[in-house]
Amino acid sequence: MAATPAKRTTDIGPPHFEQFLPPVIKKNYGKWKYHEIPRQGVLMHVAESGDKLWSVRAATPRLMSIETIRLFADLADEFCDGHLRFTSRNNVEFLVVDEAKIEPLIARLKKEGYPVGGMGASITNIVHTQGWVHCHSAASDASGVVKSVMDELFPYFDGSQKLPAKLRIAFACCLNMCGAVHCSDIAILGVHRRAPAIKHELLNSQCEIPSTVSACPTGAIRPAKVDGHDSVEVIEERCMFCANCYTVCPAMTLNDPVNDGLSIWVGGKVSNARHEPMFSKLAIPFLPNNPPRWPEAVAAVKNIVEVYAGHARKYERMGEWIERIGWPQFFKLTGIEFTKYHIDDFKHAGETFRRSLHFRHSE
Ligand code: SF4
Ligand code: SF4
Repeated sequence: MAATPAKRTTDIGPPHFEQFLPPVIKKNYGKWKYHEIPRQGVLMHVAESGDKLWSVRAATPRLMSIETIRLFADLADEFCDGHLRFTSRNNVEFLVVDEAKIEPLIARLKKEGYPVGGMGASITNIVHTQGWVHCHSAASDASGVVKSVMDELFPYFDGSQKLPAKLRIAFACCLNMCGAVHCSDIAILGVHRRAPAIKHELLNSQCEIPSTVSACPTGAIRPAKVDGHDSVEVIEERCMFCANCYTVCPAMTLNDPVNDGLSIWVGGKVSNARHEPMFSKLAIPFLPNNPPRWPEAVAAVKNIVEVYAGHARKYERMGEWIERIGWPQFFKLTGIEFTKYHIDDFKHAGETFRRSLHFRHSE
């Protein structure tokens, strides 16, 4: 007989999720029959047993104070036996089993300044990254841009403006892309456009040259002696502005107030019943960083949303709509200029996209 494995007693990892499940989810685990949206921001789940659960979705600012978290916890205690969850797009969902408590909960959330919406054919909260709050690689802010965009698109969140299908927007503040930029209908991506500016007099005292050279995924960095200092040089045409070198060496400054900005991508999505997954493609190569309200980026996203809303068929996601009408028509309808920066994405992507994790260093 096989020996019983010893019970693991380390404190590594979170506690098992099962202990946090609402009793109705535990009881009907894996036996949910269907769901529907009885009103914007409320998803009703119906189990084979006939049990029902309502998810009430509210937007959060993602960066939350302890007061906000306490407020959500108090509301969950009052309306749904303490059960809530956060979605990957920074919504909070209250899991309600008593239908009579839905409207009072929505009213309280509204009173506290947290709108309910973002379900079905709508724009839900924008998944986004760290931005200027604390990431060293950021080519733009995250929460500031997202707040500006969502203030303008709010009617598509609360359902007062209609869309043909769900429209997911993502934001990442550099190409390392901690947000879901590749698979969202519209993506805003921070871009650097200049290779790192090297502080040669500091480099050798702030980091190790071999680790800086090996940090570069494209082999763009090589050792060099500059003005008598042991340092490095960057082959600029190989640099893809990833900030890996800046991560290991603060003397490789990448941030640049003039050349950093935003790009806009469209047409990404995960697979659904009709279509395989689609990668987003470049729509606008560069827009300036213009805090605190980023009017150029807000106007660009709003334009794409309005053209899509006015032309796509019911249930057609952004990428499916563009695939049907063709990219030339997309550029024509949106009035977006087709530039040389689009060529690689549209013509040569199949040959130039990295398809493996194998790194090659060559001259
Ligand atoms: S996307 Fe880039 S800049 Fe933004 S948090 Fe991630 S690594 Fe940092
Ligand atoms: S930013 Fe990235 S690609 Fe450019 S030199 Fe640094 S590590 Fe290499």
